[in-house]
Amino acid sequence: MIERWRVGDCTLTSVLEDETRGIPPEFFFPDAKPEDVARHPWLVPDFADERGRLALRVQAFVIELRGRRVLVDPCVGNGKKRPLPFWNERSWPFMERFAEAGFKADAIGTVVHTHLHADHVGWDTRLEGRAWVPTFQNARHLYTQRELDWVRNGGNPGIDGVFADSIAPILDAGLADVVEEDADLGDGLRLESTPGHTPGHVSLWIQSRGETALVSGDFLHHPVQCAEPQLAEAGDEDVELARATRRRMLERAADTRALFLGTHFAARPAGRVERQGDAFVFVPL
Ligand SMILES: [Zn+2]
Ligand SMILES: [Zn+2]
Repeated sequence: MIERWRVGDCTLTSVLEDETRGIPPEFFFPDAKPEDVARHPWLVPDFADERGRLALRVQAFVIELRGRRVLVDPCVGNGKKRPLPFWNERSWPFMERFAEAGFKADAIGTVVHTHLHADHVGWDTRLEGRAWVPTFQNARHLYTQRELDWVRNGGNPGIDGVFADSIAPILDAGLADVVEEDADLGDGLRLESTPGHTPGHVSLWIQSRGETALVSGDFLHHPVQCAEPQLAEAGDEDVELARATRRRMLERAADTRALFLGTHFAARPAGRVERQGDAFVFVPL
């Protein structure tokens, strides 16, 4: 089952790595209780169950436009040693799904990273013998300087070895470009600085023939944060800045009627953000 959407001349495809259901909300949102989720019945069944437990995905999006293929946030990857047990030394059929969706690794021209957490850079490298080598050998891999500096200097201290196994091999191969946080990537693709979750976090706007889409990255993790935008995620580095960014971007998404692609949204990750009182709802397509 391949999930695909159109925005003007642009085609967007989700490539799934993993979807987990039945997660206690406090696992991702320390201040949330099951009733904070359960009081928003529109979250059920796609994004939560009746008991207020969450569903989350790890997925990448491929954007096809004007002959370009752009990969956004290539997930956790296989064989990576990670402290989180559900990410440690996995063997997901991600590249098989990528191929089933009609893509070849060599045909990816650009890899966009909204940020450099372990679940957004993993497939950039794969194990060949004992060495981590680039997966997308013809791609320019885009990084922002602030994010790169942050991860190079330890990122979340002690949490993972992302820089060594998933970023350094790309830099060493000469496949990295450092771009501005509001970089124009051409063909209607543009980054916007969305800091807070991490220091150099960016989101991706897509414009084609008068239509607009937005790939969130982790300025929000789950549709419950549309209804409860104050909910901080456990990984948010600067909680207050992340809150301000989240509200600003939800307002922009609602006002522009953009097709919103939630990077960690389960089941139906594409839809519209609509205002409801002083918060928002997510209406999946
Ligand atoms: Zn993150
Ligand atoms: Zn993430």
